[in-house]
Amino acid sequence: MTQTAKSRLFGLWLALAVLLSIAIGSAGFSLVERSFQIRSAEQAQGTLRLTVAGLRGALNRYEPLPSLIAEKPSIKALLSDTTNPDLASSVNLELKQIAEDVGASDIYVIDANGYTWAASNFDQTHSFVGLSYVYRPYFQQAIEGGLGRFFALGTASLKRGYYFSAPIRLQGQIAGVVTVKISVDALEADWRGADSEILVTDQFGIIFMSSRSDWHFQSLQPLQPATLDEIKAFRQYPIDQLGLLNLQRKPIGNQGAERFTIGVGGTEKHFVANAMAIPEAGWNVHILTPTAAARTQAITVIVIAVLVLLLTILVTAFLLLRRARMVERIAAQHAAQELLENRVAERTVDLNQANTQLLQEIEERKQAERQLRKTQSELVQAGKLAALGQMSAALSHEFNQPLAAVKTYADNAATYLDRNRIDEARDNVGRISQMADRMAAISKHLRNFARRPQEKIGPVPLLPIISDALAILSAKLRDRNANIVFDPPLKDIWIMGGRVRLQQVLVNLISNALDASTLDNPAHNGREPDIHLTIETTSDRVRIKVRDHGSGLAAETKSQIFDPFYTTKGPGEGLGLGLSISYNIIRDFGGRLLAENHPDGGAIFTIDLAAADQLTEEAAE
Ligand code: ADP
Repeated sequence: MTQTAKSRLFGLWLALAVLLSIAIGSAGFSLVERSFQIRSAEQAQGTLRLTVAGLRGALNRYEPLPSLIAEKPSIKALLSDTTNPDLASSVNLELKQIAEDVGASDIYVIDANGYTWAASNFDQTHSFVGLSYVYRPYFQQAIEGGLGRFFALGTASLKRGYYFSAPIRLQGQIAGVVTVKISVDALEADWRGADSEILVTDQFGIIFMSSRSDWHFQSLQPLQPATLDEIKAFRQYPIDQLGLLNLQRKPIGNQGAERFTIGVGGTEKHFVANAMAIPEAGWNVHILTPTAAARTQAITVIVIAVLVLLLTILVTAFLLLRRARMVERIAAQHAAQELLENRVAERTVDLNQANTQLLQEIEERKQAERQLRKTQSELVQAGKLAALGQMSAALSHEFNQPLAAVKTYADNAATYLDRNRIDEARDNVGRISQMADRMAAISKHLRNFARRPQEKIGPVPLLPIISDALAILSAKLRDRNANIVFDPPLKDIWIMGGRVRLQQVLVNLISNALDASTLDNPAHNGREPDIHLTIETTSDRVRIKVRDHGSGLAAETKSQIFDPFYTTKGPGEGLGLGLSISYNIIRDFGGRLLAENHPDGGAIFTIDLAAADQLTEEAAE
């Protein structure tokens, strides 16, 4: 799989994971939200219980108060003599004191006709004194001998309050009613500022207490016309302020909790609602907890769950992808290894082939070498035979001529002796002797060629050797009118060699140069031939050069010049051994003898020898 395909697959995985997580998240959201709502409803239940206990406590505290006040002699006295203003004044003050002491809003005394004779708020602008409360149910209940309870908006004070009443009896007859009104504002004040809203509804479902003042006198359900008539009759609530709360209710869970959706100022608010009844008062206390907290908690939980799920999916995907990559890599490694093994096997076959070929070639070479050696030995044999032939030819040439002369001279000598011409005979015998000398000289040459030299090699001074050689050649040089151009160095030069043999080489080279310069060389007609002798030294070598102005070395001569018996000279003039012997002598000294043509014409022979230390001469000798 290519890298792009892998990335695409991973992207698809990711998109799927996100979609799946969102689907699971949204499916689970309402469940989680519901469970949080139930939990918040359970928590609200506690708050509700406390609220109800608080309300009950307040009611219970005030309930016995009217009966106690009704027993007061001053109250009874007032009702028996309502025209006495002093009595009314003192009761007014007394009621005011009690109201202050018990924290009641108002306390007032009404006669059997519903007329109010004394009130704790006698000195206020909305004083109840002189007002009639015959229409109030609490008056009716008390005048009939019971205890009255009522909730209403005060007609004079315009304050919501709860009314408790009890009959005032004079000689067993109900002569009036004592009413204690408590304000609900203080109770409501405690409910404000909390997260939850608290509301109290009456038997009609009308909200008369609430942590929100804008919900006062709103009913949870539509009001029946009979209910409205009753409210009007009792002047319980201001009719123009009554309204219907924009409410939708839906039960949640099985604990009686409900979901309230209330339209407030164009927006909808959602609550979890719990309710509890206070049957003795005919009230229902509701606690409304906003669902926003439950929703936030549910969102948090779902987001965390979705993230965890997403992370799990991603980690799983990552691990799977990594595993797939590893499997792929291992497969690739296997493939590479297989390829390598195949290549090695192929190379091994190639190598084996090359090896076989090489062995074959070695065998062929060996065979060629054997063939070469055979050919070489054949050549050597042929060379030896050729040299022997050359030598025989040269020797027969050299010896035949003096032998023929000896025979002639001997015959002549015999003839002269027969004729008794002794002098002529002697002359011929003398010539025979000369011929014998010549043959002896040739023989000596040959012996020199064949014999190993006795002379030791060591440091020898060069200049005395050169002057000896020149002395030997002086007669020949004079005969040929030749000059030796030689500028001897001031200090002697020492070389490694043998005195006599080096002298022999020098004589030979100078003699050849002389021959080349004078014999058959028309270039030198009428001109004295010069032979240049030079010495070149380096730190460890000494080179002696003999240069002539002859016709130089022909190509054929150059290749054979050091071969024994190679000569271009006529019979009796050369044996062709001089350069061959010289070459071997110089080689014995550890040096080299070179033959070249000079660029300006003529030949140049170089004796290249190792330089020697002067001090060791005696030791060498
Ligand atoms: P030989 O002098 O008896 O011929 P060498 O061995 O001394 O024998 O010389 C061999 C040949 O080399 C000579 O015959 C000659 O042809 C050639 N040669 C030697 N020296 C010279 C020279 N300086 N110039 C030209 N040819 C030479």
